[in-house]
Amino acid sequence: MDGERTLIRGGHVVTMDPALGDLPGGDVLVEGARIAAVSPHIDTGDARLIDARGHVVMPGFVDTHRHTWQTQLRAICADWTLADYFSRLRLAITPAYSADDVYVGNYVGALEALNAGITTLLDFSHCNNTPDHADAAVTGLADAGIRALHCYGFFAASADNPAFPDHQQRRADFARVVRAYASTGGLLTIGAALTEVGLIPWSDTVAEIDAARQAGARMVAHTGCIWGSTVTGGIAEMHAGGLLGPDQVHVHCNTLNDAHWRLLAQAGAKVSIAPETELNMGMGRLALGKCREFGIKPTLSCDVVSLNSGDLFTQMRLALAYQRFADNDPINQSGAMPTRLEWTARDALEWATINGADACGLAGATGSLRPGKEADIILIGGDSFALRPRHQPVGNLVFQASAHDVRTVLVAGRLMKRDGALLGVDLRAALDRAERSAEAVLARVGRTVPSPPGRGSG
Ligand SMILES: [Zn+2]
Repeated sequence: MDGERTLIRGGHVVTMDPALGDLPGGDVLVEGARIAAVSPHIDTGDARLIDARGHVVMPGFVDTHRHTWQTQLRAICADWTLADYFSRLRLAITPAYSADDVYVGNYVGALEALNAGITTLLDFSHCNNTPDHADAAVTGLADAGIRALHCYGFFAASADNPAFPDHQQRRADFARVVRAYASTGGLLTIGAALTEVGLIPWSDTVAEIDAARQAGARMVAHTGCIWGSTVTGGIAEMHAGGLLGPDQVHVHCNTLNDAHWRLLAQAGAKVSIAPETELNMGMGRLALGKCREFGIKPTLSCDVVSLNSGDLFTQMRLALAYQRFADNDPINQSGAMPTRLEWTARDALEWATINGADACGLAGATGSLRPGKEADIILIGGDSFALRPRHQPVGNLVFQASAHDVRTVLVAGRLMKRDGALLGVDLRAALDRAERSAEAVLARVGRTVPSPPGRGSG
């Protein structure tokens, strides 16, 4: 692929770059792994041609928080509360996962993301029952070919695990993974997924953050998502300990007060909002308004396909609808109608692209179409009801499109999906393997897991 030239010709190019803007009929030239030019017309004699007429051409989406290993537990949590999810999935199912199950979850989940135009995934990987599980998680992502910030989780689902007799052993294994994979370059970056503050002794939380900082690894944490509990709190304590920073993605943040928000903003911390999970599991108001109030750029995440969808179209749509409802409801309740909308479809597209890349520390590589960046590019449309006609293409993307409308996907210049089909993937075999893995996992936990109490089977 070195130096190979690909010309994506004649699409409606939404660059998400403030200087380049949108090109209603534009060309994007890819050389090797990088974008060489974005222009209304590019002349090249020898480039491989991708005809983008009738398509929107845009940067690949960035999902800033997904527990990819849960892919084969699809929709198992459909009617679960967050407490059901924690006790049944995090505590009961996690120990039943083999390393191969983690591989299958990450491989199939990364393919699902690519199929939906997500070219960068923050993989929050907290099913590390053994060091082999950690390796399998990385290998699953690498085999799928997605760009990833793979965040190694320190979480211990059971207290007596011979593979990790104590917390220090988990930190040592994290350091091993950093050594093993950080220098391989390419699409994979190793980060750290912190255990929820309050689930472990504070000294272990401090040690997790120290381990991440020593490795130069970005961090992700579930923050402020359990009402009436100190678990997932700790923002003031982290500030007091000098532990907050711009190298952290704080996920959810529904319960934080304004003092907490001020500390996050001062620290330059990033925020990930998982609209579908938060709204369905009772976590509360989405933090979009707080992000705007305190000058933090919001990002979006799918979180768990064990509950909800694995694409960012759904998340953009839910987030925007929620925020417009939250703004307009007080006006309605006063007996009036809103006279304008404060949030736009393009805002939502920023959450799902450039803001996400920035949160992952990858804004220099991805998140927008600009010469010099890596060629993470998607084409959406073709013969699609959702994209034709297009009076306001960003509106079509945010309010109409779905994963099915993503026709072509490139990651670092490599074609991953073409004309609606993933390339080099035996999808039936992958899905068969996911089903067999799920059967085996649930058999190990005695199939008692899926039903919340008193609601029958299902
Ligand atoms: Zn999560």
